Amino acid sequence: MTQAAGAEPRRAIGAGRLAHRLSRARHLAVEAGVDALLVGVGADLLYLAGYRALPLERLTMLVVPAVGRPSLIVPRLESMAARATAVAEAGTVAVMPWDERDDPVDLVCAAIGLEGGGSGGRGVRMVAVSDRLWATFLLRLQAALPGTRFDVLSGVLRGERVVKDPDEVELLRAAAHAADRVIETIAHGRLIGRSEADVSREIRDRLLAEGHDEASFAIVGSGPNSASPHHQPTDRAIRAGEPIVLDIGGTLAGYGSDVTRTLWVTGGDPAKGPDRHFLTLYAVLRAAQAEATHAVRPGVPAERVDAVAREIIGAAGFADHFIHRTGHGIGLEEHEDPYLVAGNGEPLRAGMAFSVEPGIYFEGRHGARIEDIVVCGEAGPIVLNAVTRELLVVHG
Ligand code: ZN
Ligand code: ZN
Ligand code: ZN
Repeated sequence: MTQAAGAEPRRAIGAGRLAHRLSRARHLAVEAGVDALLVGVGADLLYLAGYRALPLERLTMLVVPAVGRPSLIVPRLESMAARATAVAEAGTVAVMPWDERDDPVDLVCAAIGLEGGGSGGRGVRMVAVSDRLWATFLLRLQAALPGTRFDVLSGVLRGERVVKDPDEVELLRAAAHAADRVIETIAHGRLIGRSEADVSREIRDRLLAEGHDEASFAIVGSGPNSASPHHQPTDRAIRAGEPIVLDIGGTLAGYGSDVTRTLWVTGGDPAKGPDRHFLTLYAVLRAAQAEATHAVRPGVPAERVDAVAREIIGAAGFADHFIHRTGHGIGLEEHEDPYLVAGNGEPLRAGMAFSVEPGIYFEGRHGARIEDIVVCGEAGPIVLNAVTRELLVVHG
């Protein structure tokens, strides 16, 4: 599918911003007494080098030593892709390809500043490795660096990644608006008689058509399935007189979208509108989501936002029917810090981005959820999604 007319252009993070992130990361590493950052495939590599690498059995690793130029160690067959990254083109990072007969761990040791894997060079006392580096790589690195302490990279980088810079907020906004348009289109399209799985496929196609590089999930929970928060779309056919929870998202230029809206399908029959129980439930949910969002500002503990939603839902007698936390951070990962959950007393900081997504579920009957992506602004919440939060009562 080609990009839809309304889709906003992608503006990937530029070389200058990436160079700044790399030097910040190096500075924080030095402060923490870390001699090198060893970054495998995943969100941290995308964050520091703008490189979306394939998760292969062959090692790809960005090495950021305390002193000297960072190196991107890649299998030879990936070297063209690695050289095309903005940081490689700008010369900020040296691309070091390895051949099938090489041991890439030797290259990692050399890039840290060690010769021949352990002897000579500076003494390396501590390295930080990306949190999700596969054991197959980690164990080989540990064998090659005896006497070196290994720590997780999030210890160094968490505080940076959790606060989004203006470029990142713009990408999150572009992703949110793209997902909003898909919700609008689906809500006003044909639904009755189609299976959840069929509608889910359409959502994925439309997310890609709206400029997403990946459509990661497209939850379509119709009728009683609306009460299952992470429902996997089935062959169940959508009928008039029931709700549908749509929870959809993916990534655009690496940054996540994640939006939930609830529809009610009438088939044009006024007798098939939402029943009283559902309308009450939805009104409570709407207030809870609005007030929780309203509570967002710097200094407020993350758990407070959850508590605000929970108090409103609890006061209406639905406490047992709000069965998950209120939200999760979002950025280069679908779910990342900070989590809006009881027990997380971390104060919100300006630039943090997260979902605010309370839900109310009556198992076997029906449920609803409203989810927006919200950025903590200096003066309060900045809501990135723009599609209406009212119950979408549609013909279907
Ligand atoms: Zn979820
Ligand atoms: Zn969601
Ligand atoms: Zn979410």
